[in-house]
Amino acid sequence: MARRLDITDLRSRIDWALRQMQRDGQTDYPVDLEDLAQTIGIKVVWRPMVPEGVTTVTPEGICIYLQSNFRDVRSSRRERFTLAHEICHALFYEQLSTHPQLIAGTPSGATLEKLCQRGAGYLLVPTSKLSQQTNRQGPVSSLAAIRSLVERCDVSIDVVLRRLHEEGANISNDYGAFVVRYHGGEATIDSAACGLTLRAIGVVPTSGQLLHTWFTSKLRGFQEIAADTWVKEVGERRLVARRVSWSPHSDVIELRSEAGDSP
Ligand SMILES: [Zn+2]
Repeated sequence: MARRLDITDLRSRIDWALRQMQRDGQTDYPVDLEDLAQTIGIKVVWRPMVPEGVTTVTPEGICIYLQSNFRDVRSSRRERFTLAHEICHALFYEQLSTHPQLIAGTPSGATLEKLCQRGAGYLLVPTSKLSQQTNRQGPVSSLAAIRSLVERCDVSIDVVLRRLHEEGANISNDYGAFVVRYHGGEATIDSAACGLTLRAIGVVPTSGQLLHTWFTSKLRGFQEIAADTWVKEVGERRLVARRVSWSPHSDVIELRSEAGDSP
């Protein structure tokens, strides 16, 4: 029986697809997904339909259908993520443009969907891109650096944070950030990235956690030192949390672990 393919296999396939683009001399970032699909032999068709994206496989090749109904009103970053997800589905096939064959060991169902979600993040924010930024400016340690990645990769902040957390090496040990959105009066944490020191202290929130729950469980005993700024002493270190507005519908909580005697 074939070994079950995992994220490492999907990343290799994505790296292969990105290399095909570079061979054609196309600009690399943000990744032009429709060009990438075409380069590796996948058709992309926009049409009115109910699901946001569907990948069809026939002996004539692979075609990704994307929902065109809300193109004028929906964020193009959401559509980019949908297309990236569908391209990941296609990358589990060989001979993409003629008689595609599912690669042995490809998982199915929820496992495959999860892999394609993670793969989409990798395709949009490849490790090479994160390392480029880190080599130039050092590991991410500010909202400005996060915003720069969001713009350069043309993705939502959630994709950038999930990728930073996944890689670990590209975010400063003492820095963390998470996105908070407000639904029906509740503030929910949607995605987060934390450096190694913060992980060790155990303050990483879980996706979908209520901000209030995180505060009372992880920042118990904190002190509010200014508007939207809280401090908690953790051993020799001081943990500082600061809420900053990100968009009309979301805030970011920045976390820093500082030496205890710093101002
Ligand atoms: Zn899917």
